[in-house]
Amino acid sequence: MDDRKPNIIDDLIGLVGNKAVLQTTDDTASYLSDWHDRFHGSAHAVVLPETTAQVAAIMAYADKHDIIVVPQGGNTGFMGGATPDGSGNSILLSLRRMNKVREIDTQNMSMTVEAGCILQNLQDVAEDAGLYFPLNLAAKGSCTIGGNLGTNAGGLNVVRYGTTRALTLGLEVVLMGGEVLEMLSGLRKDNTGYDLKDLFVGSEGTLGIITAATMRLFPKPVALSTAFAEIRDVDAAVELLHRVQAASGGMIEAFELIPADILHVLFESFPDIQRPLATIGPMNVLMEIGSTNPAYNEVGGNGSSPIRSIMESVLETAFEDGLVIDATIASSDAQRDALWDVRESSPESHKRAGKLVRSDVALPQSALSAFYADMVAGVKAIDPKIRICGYGHIGDGNLHFNLVQAAGGDPDFDAKAPKLLELLYGNVTKYGGSISAEHGIGQVKRDQLAKVKSPAIINTMKSIKAALDPKNLMNPGKVI
Ligand SMILES: Cc1cc2nc3c(=O)[nH]c(=O)nc-3n(C[C@H](O)[C@H](O)[C@H](O)COP(=O)(O)OP(=O)(O)OC[C@H]3O[C@@H](n4cnc5c(N)ncnc54)[C@H](O)[C@@H]3O)c2cc1C
Repeated sequence: MDDRKPNIIDDLIGLVGNKAVLQTTDDTASYLSDWHDRFHGSAHAVVLPETTAQVAAIMAYADKHDIIVVPQGGNTGFMGGATPDGSGNSILLSLRRMNKVREIDTQNMSMTVEAGCILQNLQDVAEDAGLYFPLNLAAKGSCTIGGNLGTNAGGLNVVRYGTTRALTLGLEVVLMGGEVLEMLSGLRKDNTGYDLKDLFVGSEGTLGIITAATMRLFPKPVALSTAFAEIRDVDAAVELLHRVQAASGGMIEAFELIPADILHVLFESFPDIQRPLATIGPMNVLMEIGSTNPAYNEVGGNGSSPIRSIMESVLETAFEDGLVIDATIASSDAQRDALWDVRESSPESHKRAGKLVRSDVALPQSALSAFYADMVAGVKAIDPKIRICGYGHIGDGNLHFNLVQAAGGDPDFDAKAPKLLELLYGNVTKYGGSISAEHGIGQVKRDQLAKVKSPAIINTMKSIKAALDPKNLMNPGKVI
């Protein structure tokens, strides 16, 4: 932090109070580096406002004095989007203390919440109101709804409920300069001009500060069936997805691909995690269907509930057709939690596994199998010992195609990383995919974005940025 400009600190304290301004003497390290400890920045101060009016005052002050503002929520983002640069001319604006639930409207099935609310708390608040907030990711205990909105987060339940953007009814946004855009509507239809809300969702803090949002709520699925199945290959996963979707009438809550290397890397870091099946098959899926109708839980004469019967009958047919090799269906909440533990601990196990190329791509479902095969062949040609952890939300065509260094470490891995990325992005382009499905662009993929989007698209993005942030003070160096 820059102690040559003590007046900035004093001025900020004047705006938000002493306790809301963390200086060099405070422990600010966790705010100034990212979740992977890959990016490190500096700032005049970390400022933690409690109200929209305080955010507006900070934005007016920053605009007047040409100070960069970098918004941050839970700092769990993967793209370095919430880390300031090293210039020191930034305010790290943490929204964590703006964490009030302003309103729950059960009749409208919506809630209006402040940006710093932790995702898991919002799930709990919805449940206490007898409803369901379906946004769900492994970082739910520490990510904030503001960060989810900033990145247009996806997660485990997109296959049924859509991304954060689809869950958003209204927003409150503070612009550089301090103007507040009050768009906190609970309306499901509103065709009054350009949809500014959709512009700010996924803008990664480069256009304005999201201070509050009105989010959609749903009836809670009360009957669930969760299964882990070893499958023939990626093609079988896509076929199984469509069969479960058809048999359940669109009740798929989650559908995740889990290849063998995911399990090998996971059990290295977390040996106590329960193995879902006796052996580790090359390709697997974790899937869940759910109904809001409690009658789906009632065990019938066949000894099975309707929800479980749907899962059983799809798996049986898929087994006969050679799509499924082995499977287990959770028979209790504890067994369900154990299956989900496998999936939800995977990101952390990759962090612990050391060097890796992390990715987040989307493909048309029709291209997933060919993409996967080309990637496996290409990676093996570069280094057959690399652990191929291409996993994730295959239900919506989203793969985290992570490539983890060989077991025991690989001193040459860094030299292989550019080739692996070239292979990945080459195949994403070949099969009509996207370089970012849900993690955003941040600083990690900014240069790649410029390569895959046409000049006309990039220039349009730059025009929007210049209109809202002419001095480039809002989270510069991110996205474009
Ligand atoms: C274990 C683990 C699992 C994960 N799984 C998933 C997953 O399944 N799906 C997924 O999509 N992501 C996943 N992520 C990534 C991450 O959790 C999401 O990107 C999340 O939405 C970030 O929220 P955050 O509050 O931590 O935001 P931060 O990391 O603090 O910020 C992310 C971006 O949003 C901007 N931002 C933050 N708050 C605001 C605001 N109030 N207004 C404007 N801009 C803002 C920041 O400037 C930055 O650019 C995972 C991360 C971890 C660690």
